Amino acid sequence: MEPLHPTPTRPVIPGRAITPISRQDTPIDIDGLSWPSIGTKSRRDETEEQRHIREEKIAEAVKTILSCLGEDPEREGLLKTPDRYASALMFFTKGYEQSIKDVLNEAVFEEDHEEMVIVKNVDIFSLCEHHMVPFTGKISIGYIPNRRVVGLSKLARIAEMFARRLQVQERLTKQIASTLMEVLQPQGVAVVMEASHLCMCMRGVQKPGSSTMTSCMLGVFRNNPKTREEFLSLIRN
Ligand SMILES: [Zn+2]
Repeated sequence: MEPLHPTPTRPVIPGRAITPISRQDTPIDIDGLSWPSIGTKSRRDETEEQRHIREEKIAEAVKTILSCLGEDPEREGLLKTPDRYASALMFFTKGYEQSIKDVLNEAVFEEDHEEMVIVKNVDIFSLCEHHMVPFTGKISIGYIPNRRVVGLSKLARIAEMFARRLQVQERLTKQIASTLMEVLQPQGVAVVMEASHLCMCMRGVQKPGSSTMTSCMLGVFRNNPKTREEFLSLIRN
């Protein structure tokens, strides 16, 4: 019998971890962690004390960064900055500790509804994995159920779970769409995201105020131009 979720067949470059998504990967993996990274499980399962040690380690590293910048980590204004930054960073990446199972929490219902459902302009705060600085924007998610619907607030929470990790906008968009496709098995899913990346705005590569758009269209949204148009015009208005 064919395995339900075959092992990815991508070429593996020695010494390099695989980017956490591919067409064959599934968000409902063995640990239920939804495309975890290598330290995800130990981070989620750690004790209060282990969490404290982890944050102290980050704070020490931040002290080093401050010194390297030519600052004095012992001056009053910076004294608590390493600790603050450590706990902020843990919060910004708390999505590593969540799984799609926790997020959905049994909020998937059988329902005789086959019309388009859209949640639009959900605020997104994420960290670009290339520079570890924020990118922020809005995301709109649509799907056409196949007699299975999800609580509306869950769409935003799925987006949040993937956003609170180190990301690239393209992957974030795709992870949200693929996850909904798998858990709801709908007729189609559409995800459109518009974001502004501080790594670009602040370094002058991109003019401030410009933004990056990404989209992922699956099922009927990909195959039927009329359905896709309907979604796009609904999120524009
Ligand atoms: Zn960047």
